Amino acid sequence: MAKAQIQSLRGMNDVFPPEASHLQQLHDLIHAVLARYAYRPLQLPLLEQTGLFKRAVGEETDVVSKEMYTFCDRNDESITLRPEATAGVVRAMIQHGKLQQPQRVYAEGPMFRYERPQKGRSRQFSQVSVEAFGMAGAALDAELIAICADLFRRLGVLDLLTLELNTIGLAEERHAFQQALVAYLQNHLDALDDDSRRRLTTNPLRILDSKNAGVQAVLGGAPALDDYLGADSRAHFARLTGLLDAQGIAWRRNPRLVRGLDYYCHTVFEWTTDALGAQGTVTAGGRYDGLVEQLGGKPTPAAGFAFGIERILLLAQTRDTFRDTPPAVYAIATDDAHFASLLPLVQRLRDADIAVLVQTQVQALKNQLRKADQEGAHYALIIGDDEAANQSASLKNLRDGNQERLPLAEIPAYLQERLKETA
Ligand code: ATP
Ligand code: MG
Repeated sequence: MAKAQIQSLRGMNDVFPPEASHLQQLHDLIHAVLARYAYRPLQLPLLEQTGLFKRAVGEETDVVSKEMYTFCDRNDESITLRPEATAGVVRAMIQHGKLQQPQRVYAEGPMFRYERPQKGRSRQFSQVSVEAFGMAGAALDAELIAICADLFRRLGVLDLLTLELNTIGLAEERHAFQQALVAYLQNHLDALDDDSRRRLTTNPLRILDSKNAGVQAVLGGAPALDDYLGADSRAHFARLTGLLDAQGIAWRRNPRLVRGLDYYCHTVFEWTTDALGAQGTVTAGGRYDGLVEQLGGKPTPAAGFAFGIERILLLAQTRDTFRDTPPAVYAIATDDAHFASLLPLVQRLRDADIAVLVQTQVQALKNQLRKADQEGAHYALIIGDDEAANQSASLKNLRDGNQERLPLAEIPAYLQERLKETA
């Protein structure tokens, strides 16, 4: 009897070609965009002390209260697979004393959250988390948003996205507003769903982005956060929107946008789309001036955002942005004896940056050529008995069917020339 197969964990996806190569192309593009804004990569651990996320993200958030993968290490220390990268970036910056001067960095890789898997939502997913430290002005917020717009433009998906923008002011301002909001909602308890009722004591601001229509209707009459903002908060937001307008970046005010995590202040933003169904937020972030101090560092203004890689990929796939890159050449030896001339030739092609797939199993030439076609190769390179006897190889152009025989020494230059013409 066959043994039971071991399956992957729920919500942890295997990614095959072509998606995996599309992901790589997306990362390459993101790196290129970030380099133009002078952001530099950081590499950080996937595991951190659990206390880091409790302190940074906040115990009352969904992420910390129900989505974390938390384990005991062998010495009984509680450790957690990172659910997001900002906390780790801030920890590292403080720990290594990097915050004496402004910093522009990004950290990328898998994040882990125990959520209900569905389209655009998995338990292991990827983010590129872009963070800047030591800059308090709205010009930095505008820069972060411009990075997003730049990437989305290059991906050809900017028109599918809306930039939703809000200001949540300072913690004190939010606190005063929160008290007023709770007092108002206490008088409308019967209109709240269970989730919102629970949040009334744990995380009241989160009620603002409830998806429940009844709750939203009641919120129509609720106090507005705007009325609790001080002059500095208003000025920061006005400067930001002025800079976005100056750069031609369209935005929409969403007064209900508060974001789930505790550490934000002033600017919060999300890039959302209708093209992906329910999981419509592809990138989110904001300013978090208090976080460095909260984690034991000197007060340092900071802001950042996270690209949700899988959702951005889904969006880019609706636009055919990414191509497969088939091998340019499919190399065939018609006899095991001919590999000794084929392989050194192939090596010279690869040295010239030409991608070559070598068929290592000798088969009937007709089958081989069919496979070369299926692989999408441009040329079949063939060494048969005649070619081997004459220090030559045949090149068959699989697009037009032409075939010619050339001396081995001439093939690299010939192919380089031809492939350049069609690139
Ligand atoms: P959501 O509203 O989808 O739960 P979130 O507010 O929890 O998102 P953030 O913590 O702001 O998300 O993460 C930034 C981005 O990372 C999201 O906008 C989304 O694109 C992506 N993301 C978050 N959680 C997941 C997940 N479980 N699977 C895939 N992508 C995710
Ligand atoms: Mg979430």
